[in-house]
Amino acid sequence: GVRPGRAAAGTPRLTVVSGPSGVGKSSVLAELRERAPEVYFSVSVTTRPPRAGEVDGVDYHFVDRAEFERMVADGEMLEYAQYAGNYYGTPRAPVERALASGRPAVLEIELQGARQVRRSMPEARLVMLLPPSWDDLVGRLTGRRTEDPEVLRQRLDTAQAELAASSEFDATVVNADVREAVDELVRLITGPASG
Ligand code: 5GP
Repeated sequence: GVRPGRAAAGTPRLTVVSGPSGVGKSSVLAELRERAPEVYFSVSVTTRPPRAGEVDGVDYHFVDRAEFERMVADGEMLEYAQYAGNYYGTPRAPVERALASGRPAVLEIELQGARQVRRSMPEARLVMLLPPSWDDLVGRLTGRRTEDPEVLRQRLDTAQAELAASSEFDATVVNADVREAVDELVRLITGPASG
């Protein structure tokens, strides 16, 4: 009973999931992976150093600036942006391969990258994950303690700008309850296009 839509008509859907730092993207995405094994999750390239526990090739491809700039120059990035002093980008080839083989694909990227995807792939669906409140977001970011105060301040400024841009997105999902947020995301990512 899948309604005909763009996805059903032959173009597998690309979904961009954005959301401010501290909104709980990693927990939501981790549960989403378990619930939707048919979905391809893009592994980004970054110049940010790995955090404790992060695995190269799984969480990110960790590269130096020269290698990142080479990939951009060679047209290997679907989109890229600078965020808190580091480069982040989506390798184009694996996403195109997934879509061509009929798998829905998800990019978890920040606002500038989401805007680039909007321009280059207008059929993509843009979803923003929102915190239940601003205080909730500040609390989660402060409690994380993985960043120094200057980086934290940068991330809060960026978070404010990202929340202000939520009207540019096709859908918003509030992460008050991880399971409910994942339910909504699964519908948006694997469900029929709704115009
Ligand atoms: P973090 O350093 O906390 O892992 O990520 C910082 C920000 O970069 C997050 O908002 C995350 O969504 C974003 N990000 C991760 N990968 C990419 C990417 O490939 N492209 C863009 N534009 N942003 C990304």
